[in-house]
Parts: sequence; C-alpha cells; structure tokens
Amino acid sequence: MNVEEVLSREDFKRCLEFHGHLCPGVSIGYRAARAAMEHLAARRAEDEEVVAVVETDACSADAVQVLTGCTFGKGNLIYRDHGKMVLTLLSRKTGEGVRVAMRPDAFAPDPEHMALIQKVTRGEANEAEKARFDQRHIQRSHDVLVMETEALFKIEPTRIDLPPQAQIAPSELCAVCGEPTMATKMEVVEGRKLCRDCFQKVTSSK
Ligand SMILES: [Zn+2]
Ligand SMILES: [Zn+2]
Repeated sequence: MNVEEVLSREDFKRCLEFHGHLCPGVSIGYRAARAAMEHLAARRAEDEEVVAVVETDACSADAVQVLTGCTFGKGNLIYRDHGKMVLTLLSRKTGEGVRVAMRPDAFAPDPEHMALIQKVTRGEANEAEKARFDQRHIQRSHDVLVMETEALFKIEPTRIDLPPQAQIAPSELCAVCGEPTMATKMEVVEGRKLCRDCFQKVTSSK
C-alpha cells in the first residue's frame, strides 16, 4: 500500500474535510475505524444499530465519526475519558463487537517531534522549527496510513453492556431561568424544578 493511494481515497478525504487537517491522530482514527468495520463487516450506521466507544476525545475521534457514522448527536458515539487510543465498535442488537487498541510498540517515540509540538503550542517556535514540525507531523501521519494493521493495533472480539438508547423526554420550564429543559435532567429544590445551571448557582450561593 502506498501513501498516495490512501490519501486519494474518498473516505479519507471526507475525514480530512471533517477534521480540518492532516495529523497523526486523524490517521490513527481512520485506520482504527476501518479495521473495526472490516472486522464487524459493518456498514456505516444508518441509525443506532452500531455503537462506537472511544476512549480519547483527541483528533482520532473525528475519523471514527465519519467512517462509522456513529455521532454525538445520534447518541451512538460514547466517550469514555480514559486517555487511551482504543476504539470499540459494537452491534446494538447483540452487544458484541470488536476492540481495537493501539499497540504500545506501534510507534517509537519521536523526541524531536514531541519537543517541537511543545514549542509550537507555546508559540515559541521559529520559522525553521515550524517547518520542521510540519514535516515531521506529515511524515508521521503518512507512516500511520501505510503501516500493517496488525503492527498498529491489537484487535480482539469483545462484548459490553450498552447504555439504553437515547431517551426522548418532554421538556419543562426551569423555575429560575424559564428555559425549556429535559425533565429527567432537572433538580428539585424546595418543590421547584431547576435546570442544572440554575441549580448550581442556587446551591453554591448558599
Ligand atoms: Zn488533528
Ligand atoms: Zn435554569
């Protein structure tokens, strides 16, 4: 597989369009989502039958949304704040699926790249360093795109208990701000129903 071929794929272009830039993260997410989909032979989720669980909210999550069709708005993208490059893709019907985890030895750390990221983020990089950073950043993205799937990820079948499907509850007006709020998300204070924002203000001022 050569990198030009991957870069010219329609599904990868859609990931870049959605995410906004080419980076190692979006490339990893793309590879992970494809590996998971191939394993499940799943097609893009029409509605809620496929559920994706991501364990990082970094760049990779955007590629997962584009490829799997699991999105925040549909309630079939679940975020677990574990800080790990792990994607689990499951069938809503059976709860069975596949877990794709980045291998610890998939990537030799690149101290130069890491040091440059720090400098660029702090706004301390000069023009030459910025150019070098861009070059390393693109190179690592390309490396991810052409690596063997097995070298990049540990892939194994799994099953997890899924949260119930998105609930649609009627809204009521918050007793303080008057904004319509899903009734099941409201707090009751002295018999009055408050939205969480107002609840926090009321309770913190006591
Ligand atoms: Zn990115
Ligand atoms: Zn309120």
